[in-house]
Amino acid sequence: MRRPELVKKEVSGIAEYVPGKSIEEIASKYGLDPASIIKLGSNENVLGPSPKAIEAVIAHASGINIYPSADASELVEAISVYTGFPVENICAAGPGMDGLLDNLMRLLISAGDEVILPIPTFSYYEIAARANGAVPVYVSSGQDFAFDIEGIMNAESERTKIIFLCSPNNPTGRLVSEADLRRILEHTGGLVFVDEAYVEFSDCNLAHLINEYDNIIVGRTFSKAFGLAGMRLGYGLMPAWIRSEYMKIATPFNISVPAIVAGIAALSDTLYLQESIRCAREGRDFLIKQIPFRVYDSQANFVLVDVAPLRSRDVSEVLLKKGIIVRDCRSFRDAGETLIRVTVGTPEQNEKVVVAFKEVSVA
Ligand SMILES: *Cc1c(COP(=O)(O)O)cnc(C)c1O
Repeated sequence: MRRPELVKKEVSGIAEYVPGKSIEEIASKYGLDPASIIKLGSNENVLGPSPKAIEAVIAHASGINIYPSADASELVEAISVYTGFPVENICAAGPGMDGLLDNLMRLLISAGDEVILPIPTFSYYEIAARANGAVPVYVSSGQDFAFDIEGIMNAESERTKIIFLCSPNNPTGRLVSEADLRRILEHTGGLVFVDEAYVEFSDCNLAHLINEYDNIIVGRTFSKAFGLAGMRLGYGLMPAWIRSEYMKIATPFNISVPAIVAGIAALSDTLYLQESIRCAREGRDFLIKQIPFRVYDSQANFVLVDVAPLRSRDVSEVLLKKGIIVRDCRSFRDAGETLIRVTVGTPEQNEKVVVAFKEVSVA
């Protein structure tokens, strides 16, 4: 029996989040050995977790009968050292940056508020905002997926509450420039959420603007460069006034004991972080040069491939059959039918990706 009328009406039009495919799913669908599958569909860290994080989780396993600290203050201290911002500007969050987004939407959105979404972009902003009653206002990107800054500013209305800017953007790899972000911060009557999930891989970091503007929130994650996607850990950098309001409504104990200790350990493992960044930067240059389709320049640990005149559905299917998991971008609003996102792998994995794309291009 279904009783959809019991679910609040805001939810009825929301499309479910489409995650990257898992190794188990592809192994059973195509009869492949799981050990042979290369997982490059979710932008995880291909080096595995930091050895220090593994050690920390094991060392604290016997303490998991006890609640973590409600505000994860030990982790916040460590994030403060890493980012250089005082603890008054930092909220640690779980599960992942997605948990930060959920708490922020609960804090900020009233029914009918508008949120501006430059598309294509990460789809969870729309889900989290709409579930809290927001009305999405989409702004399509310009040529080569450059952010349409004029379009974003023209989309502003009396009801604008949040503008989402992902930099580097998922799935396009494009950055928002500091000058453009300043223009938007000065123009809007609402808040700007800047998603820096991939900032460690890029040359541009916009978080210092929280010292100058009272309407910016920066989201970060441990899922990518820090290699802790399975721990579900993120954090926000924001002006102290927003943090005070946020702490009133944040889910208590939203970061688990293993996540807290793994996060602290990963922040201390500078060698691992440097190696992750080097691997992504070198690998993406290689993929951009070698894949025989149009590959967009990227500032993240993934590249966006346009397989036109072929279709992303067909090409990703061919790669999946070969045991290479990539992300068909059709589920991203406004991404069209020809885009595939590929996480930068290890050098051996990148070689295999290139060979596979070459086979597709001559087939
Ligand atoms: C991966 C990703 C996130 C989610 O991070 P979690 O901390 O794993 O929830 C947020 N934003 C973007 C753009 C991402 O690609």
